[in-house]
Amino acid sequence: MTSLADRLSDFNLDVDSLVVVLTGAGISAESGVPTFRGKDGLWKTYRAQDLATPEAFERDPKTVWEWYDYRRQIVATKRPNPAHVALAELDEKIPHFQLITQNVDGLHLEAGARRVIELHGNLFRVRCTAEGTVFEDREVPLKEIPPHCRCGALLRPDVVWFGEPIPHDLLERSFEACRHASLMLVVGTSAVVQPAASMPLLARQAGAPVVEINPEETPITPFADISLRGRAGEIVPELATSLLDVLGVG
Ligand code: NAD
Repeated sequence: MTSLADRLSDFNLDVDSLVVVLTGAGISAESGVPTFRGKDGLWKTYRAQDLATPEAFERDPKTVWEWYDYRRQIVATKRPNPAHVALAELDEKIPHFQLITQNVDGLHLEAGARRVIELHGNLFRVRCTAEGTVFEDREVPLKEIPPHCRCGALLRPDVVWFGEPIPHDLLERSFEACRHASLMLVVGTSAVVQPAASMPLLARQAGAPVVEINPEETPITPFADISLRGRAGEIVPELATSLLDVLGVG
């Protein structure tokens, strides 16, 4: 049987290769952070799609903040798992590297990764609805719901809601990385939320091999060069070791 390292060797990678990684909620599942589409995605009787919108916040900021307070409380107790740690090691050792995440849990940063684009924001940052100022806020549980800025205006979570655009510079940097990727890893995303879902395809069209890690098939599977079916916490550390070897930076 061909080993993972042999399969990666076929891609002619070296120390100058740009490795781009896209992650989704699945990479944090083994840390205990619920995904949206799994059975744990419901809060009370609400679906995420009904609360993570500007309209819901406009109508009922208290309920939306209660949901974020609940999510912040869950995530605050969670730790990076071996998949986050292995990707942080890739970030540390590979000269040309970019991690793009759809996650808002901050676990990549907590694992020590630095070249991270948080496409959808971060649960532990808040933004003033009047001034647009963004700051870190780790108070869990929140004392005041909904919280207010010192200027008196409502604060909102600094995350991207359904129907809102991803900040232009983050999107541009992500597309740029995908267009120049030598290898793209796609970990734990159902690949149904745009525009992140189109990034692996962009990398593939630009000639980069795509490796997918997911227990289930996704829309990425048909064009992935390698599909590794299983849990990120088990597969990513092994993949990372093989990749560092193949790049000659292990
Ligand atoms: P998703 O919930 O749509 O899909 C999760 C994917 O992970 C599925 O394809 C599933 O098969 C896979 N998966 C489940 N367990 C896995 C494991 N152990 N290892 C590897 N893969 C596993 O997630 P998405 O594609 O990221 O899209 C959901 C949106 O919701 C994102 O935009 C994200 O911002 C947000 N979200 C974030 C978090 C978080 O920050 N942790 C959690 C829930 C939702």
